[in-house]
Amino acid sequence: MPRDPDCVFCKIVGGQIPAAVVLQDENVLAFMDVGPLAEGHLLVVPRSHCGKLSDLEPQQYAALTLHLPALGKALERVTGAEGWNLLQNNGEVAGQTVPHVHFHLIPRRAGDGLGYRWKPGSYAAGRADELATAYREAFKSLRAER
Ligand code: AMP
Ligand code: ZN
Repeated sequence: MPRDPDCVFCKIVGGQIPAAVVLQDENVLAFMDVGPLAEGHLLVVPRSHCGKLSDLEPQQYAALTLHLPALGKALERVTGAEGWNLLQNNGEVAGQTVPHVHFHLIPRRAGDGLGYRWKPGSYAAGRADELATAYREAFKSLRAER
């Protein structure tokens, strides 16, 4: 499995630094976030080092998400949270501080003050269609590159 010796999550996967592990299989590890946004905040990471979600092969993505429903159920049971956010940051500009792909499961309670609403923008006439066309072209090229 590819590992990055400077990566904190690779060190957790390799057992070089401790973590409170809640679930693991041959592909993924789920553990407590050391800087929780709310009590019970979990992280899920692939065992192999990979920077962004867009760097994963579809099978790696499937393995990474396999346990999310069970982790969500366990989180609700353990924390009593009324809901939870699944958060996944890609790239420094998007708030990713550990460049090893991961999902956050963040328990939510009424009045917890965490917030989540971002201010929606709008498109000039025709721009959304232009972008949709560019996306369709990109998908075509990506398929051809495979
Ligand atoms: P992100 O900002 O999306 O890259 O999230 C990185 C997360 O990793 C943060 O919520 C950190 O609190 C968490 N984190 C960093 N180091 C550790 C560690 N050694 N054990 C557990 N969680 C960590
Ligand atoms: Zn790593």
